[in-house]
Amino acid sequence: MDKWNKRTRAVHAGTRRSQYGELSEAIFLTQGFVYDTAEAAEARFIQSGEDEFIYARYGNPTVAMFEDRIAALEGAEAAFATASGMAAVNGALMSVLRAGDHVVSARALFGSCLYILEEILTRYGVEVTFVDGTDLDAWQAAIRADTKVVFFESVSNPTLEVVDIAAVSRLAHAVGALVIVDNVFATPVFSDALAQGADVVVYSATKHIDGQGRALGGVILGLRDLIRGPVETYMKHTGGSMSPFTAWLMLKGLETMDLRVRAQAETAQHLAMSLQADGRLQRVIYPGLVSHPQHALAVAQMGAGGTVLAIDAGSQDAAFRLLNRLEIFKISNNLGDAKSIATHPATTTHQRLADAVKASLGITPGLIRLSVGLEDAADLLSDLRQAMG
Ligand SMILES: *Cc1c(COP(=O)(O)O)cnc(C)c1O
Repeated sequence: MDKWNKRTRAVHAGTRRSQYGELSEAIFLTQGFVYDTAEAAEARFIQSGEDEFIYARYGNPTVAMFEDRIAALEGAEAAFATASGMAAVNGALMSVLRAGDHVVSARALFGSCLYILEEILTRYGVEVTFVDGTDLDAWQAAIRADTKVVFFESVSNPTLEVVDIAAVSRLAHAVGALVIVDNVFATPVFSDALAQGADVVVYSATKHIDGQGRALGGVILGLRDLIRGPVETYMKHTGGSMSPFTAWLMLKGLETMDLRVRAQAETAQHLAMSLQADGRLQRVIYPGLVSHPQHALAVAQMGAGGTVLAIDAGSQDAAFRLLNRLEIFKISNNLGDAKSIATHPATTTHQRLADAVKASLGITPGLIRLSVGLEDAADLLSDLRQAMG
């Protein structure tokens, strides 16, 4: 597979065929596997080979196909598929940390990521320092000789700040810290996070990998020793494994992901430029706009602005009015979906945060996150224009 480009790997990598030679990937809806003899069972529990399975929580042929395919796409040695994106974030952190360890994390995070870092890790004696992810001096000042893990979203939710993966990784690696990147907004299509310095990449597969809003899933990618060692051990014993049916949906999702995500990003760029030129909105935030504070970094790191933009209608009233007038964009909180989605972070995904924290993160009352889908770009623009009134 190494000699093929990404789009070929996305269609073929990891395929395992049964004795029937099926063309499309089979769904192995089985939790268990039968051994020929008691000795064979004993031997498999001691050491199981690449295509030897024990129990679906540990591994399953359909799940292994998904893991191998996404690992081949991402240029990772190995992957572990999880029940959701949060199972992946939690598993990546909990499998490598212990009481007394120090973590440095970007402050602008998805609400549930923030909960794990702020509430769970600290409950078990892990010290967490939060920094402004775009400020390299702040990372430098916070990273200590005893820092074990550095964590950030490469593009933050919902304000779309871009973190410099290579620069932060250099600072972390200087003290031997492990760099764990939540790469959802960058997507596997536009990101090369492992090549840029990240040690571990996690995705919510719920987003662009499924891309059609059907199932929750996640994945942890990195070096084989880490993934097949502490990560797999933690995940298989704590129960956050992906189901075979979900793995099948995600495999089929990977086949079309490149086409979908590029089309969505192209439309997002068009909408961002048109809305900015329109001038009726207080802010249009999109990494693909020259006006974005980390535009140059976004272009160098991802080559595109991604599938999500954020707009500011000025006030909560104006934002709600706009949301309620939308016809094509659906009010919901998924992203990366074929259907365009509008979210009001301050009252939904980030409701839990205190007003002062929201303000410090740029989550203003008028902010709307737009996940751009696969509909016609001109229709989406008309929808937004009529909703702005
Ligand atoms: C959605 C999301 C998650 C969580 O993924 P689930 O599949 O919903 O558990 C984590 N990080 C980011 C950046 C996300 O957007």
